[in-house]
Amino acid sequence: MMKISIVVPVYNEAEGLPRFLEALYSVMHAIGLPWTCLFVDDGSVDDSWAVIEHLSRDYSEVLGLRLSRNFGHQVALSAGIEHVDGDAVITMDADLQHPPDLIPQLVAKWRQGFNIVNTLRANTPDTEWFKRHSSALFYLLLNKISDIPIIPAAADFRLLDRKAVDALLSMPERNRFLRGMVSWIGFNQTYVPFVPRPRTHGSSKFTLKKMIHLGLDGVTSFSLAPLRLALMLGIGSIGLALAYAIYVLWVKLMTDYAQPGWASLMGVVLFLGGVQLMTLGIFGEYLGKIFGETKHRPLYFVQERIGILNPPDRKRSS
Ligand code: UDP
Ligand code: MG
Repeated sequence: MMKISIVVPVYNEAEGLPRFLEALYSVMHAIGLPWTCLFVDDGSVDDSWAVIEHLSRDYSEVLGLRLSRNFGHQVALSAGIEHVDGDAVITMDADLQHPPDLIPQLVAKWRQGFNIVNTLRANTPDTEWFKRHSSALFYLLLNKISDIPIIPAAADFRLLDRKAVDALLSMPERNRFLRGMVSWIGFNQTYVPFVPRPRTHGSSKFTLKKMIHLGLDGVTSFSLAPLRLALMLGIGSIGLALAYAIYVLWVKLMTDYAQPGWASLMGVVLFLGGVQLMTLGIFGEYLGKIFGETKHRPLYFVQERIGILNPPDRKRSS
């Protein structure tokens, strides 16, 4: 019989977990396939782990994985996916913004033969203004420059079948931008729309800083365009500088106005300085990525497990 594994990253969600499980339970019960729910505690500093332990005593379906510190949403998802053995793996948030009611639709699409069933967030009026617009702009830019399509409003709420999971787990990179990675691996993919709910409790764990980091990872993990942009800007500014030098020479040789022009000099210096700094910044971003990857560090460490006896036998190459 096919088995479904639910993977839920948890960062300081103690008060919402029982309600989440309750909602999940009735939906999964109705589906009727064997299932488990793995809560990945991503270094919570509240009682989340205690709550997970408690839930696992009451519900045999509940498993737990506690990471040694906060590694971030994307890594927590990867860790969870690595530790489950379902024929289908569903990743979703713990705050009920990803409605469990959608799971039967995901499973139905899987049964139709899709390897990956993504979900698309429909914008609701109560999505925060800043979040809505920053996300729209980010995906617009990302798709302009990226080599693979990344659907805007895609959420990390999706179903992956075994093939897709194994493909993802075979990707050793440390910069995990799952939306991009999932798009990159291919297979039969489809999309199901959903209306995100307001968070049932607590507040978003995504600070502006975390969003910017995720955005940079998304751009630089899937595109060399910023590097090319640096090159183009460099060439362009050399061209401009040459043209200007010719003009300066002409003024010097042919006219009496040869005044050391402070303003234009400053203009050129500032422009070139800016281009150089930007170029260096872009190089640095990629260099940092290469540095991170070459260290071959594990993606995360596990502190405790519930219901998962052995480390996964499918080990990533690093
Ligand atoms: N999360 C996590 N590690 C983090 C930040 C968030 O595991 O460093 C979890 C969080 O508990 C939630 C999911 O990732 O289950 C999505 O986070 P959140 O709801 O705060 O993001 P938003 O919905 O605001 O984008
Ligand atoms: Mg949320």
